Amino acid sequence: PAPAPRRPIRELPDELISQIAAGEVVERPASVVRELVDNALDSGARQINIKLMGGGVRAIVVEDDGCGIPAEELPLALKRHATSKIRNLDELESVATMGFRGEALAAISSVAEMALSSRCEGAQHAFRLDARSGELVPAARSQGTSVEVRELFFNTPARRKFLKSEGTELAHCLEAVRRHALARPDVGFTIWHEGKLVEQLRPTQVESRLADVLGAEFLRDSRPVYAEAGPLRVYGRAGLPEAARGRADMQYVYVNGRYVRDKLIAHGVRSAYEDVLHGQRQPSYVLFIDIAPDRVDVNVHPTKIEVRFRDGRELHQQARYAVQDALAVSRSAEAAASPE
Ligand code: ADP
Ligand code: MG
Repeated sequence: PAPAPRRPIRELPDELISQIAAGEVVERPASVVRELVDNALDSGARQINIKLMGGGVRAIVVEDDGCGIPAEELPLALKRHATSKIRNLDELESVATMGFRGEALAAISSVAEMALSSRCEGAQHAFRLDARSGELVPAARSQGTSVEVRELFFNTPARRKFLKSEGTELAHCLEAVRRHALARPDVGFTIWHEGKLVEQLRPTQVESRLADVLGAEFLRDSRPVYAEAGPLRVYGRAGLPEAARGRADMQYVYVNGRYVRDKLIAHGVRSAYEDVLHGQRQPSYVLFIDIAPDRVDVNVHPTKIEVRFRDGRELHQQARYAVQDALAVSRSAEAAASPE
């Protein structure tokens, strides 16, 4: 076919810019859950309640008891590239919060109905902002923030078509909360679906949170990992080879408290199992890697699930040795207990 005649360059309308940007951040209800729980954790919440309808497609409500947002800043919270978390490049390079791009609420509000209710410390009452109408009215709630997201992708039908069944979307939402919950045992979580309590995680210690989320068997069939090399720390638990699974569905890696998917680390861990695990069996593990913030770039991907390391090779080795040590200790302890 003949090429279409050239059309003049135009700036896109703001709404469309947001919808395009939303494509990178909001893929499905679980992405919304992840972003809203990130925000709740950044606000210093001790308790986070997640209420879902229709697998999160019809509604997602996330309530926290964090610092809240002052009424006059509520409209800003919805603006693109507006954030309270960083102010300059220095702060970006040492960022300790989950968020910093100021994109999530803007993105979500461009592809769903959204309302924010919040009350900050010392305020007489809460305020509620409706994203669509911009209406700001007094509301009732204790200190903290509730974000309501309804009818995800109602205005982007092409996206909505990519959603899976309610059950599948719900499962992804639950997994998103689990990822946060493993790293933050000090925070309580509840998850509700269609008004029924699906999961309740009380604030506790690391090990009992692992058992609450992954099952008591994970704790029984795994060994503690701990390795330190200067400012780099690798710790958590590595599953015994005998407890390996058919699927890689229990592999959690956190870098400075942020859940990440990283091929290099995964490969390092897998190689610790190379002599003891055969075929396609997949080890279970939860590993926390603490690293100087200037050794890792979290600003690689809008969802921050991928990060880039300055010393990737070293990290690969450290992950491997840390897990190898954990497994070796467990084998020599067993040998000592049952000498043949
Ligand atoms: P980011 O988290 O990258 O800053 P968001 O779009 O997720 O961007 O949020 C924008 C701003 O709204 C945040 O910087 C924060 O000041 C405020 N905010 C959002 N959610 C909450 C919350 N649950 N509690 C307190 N403040 C919040
Ligand atoms: Mg955020």
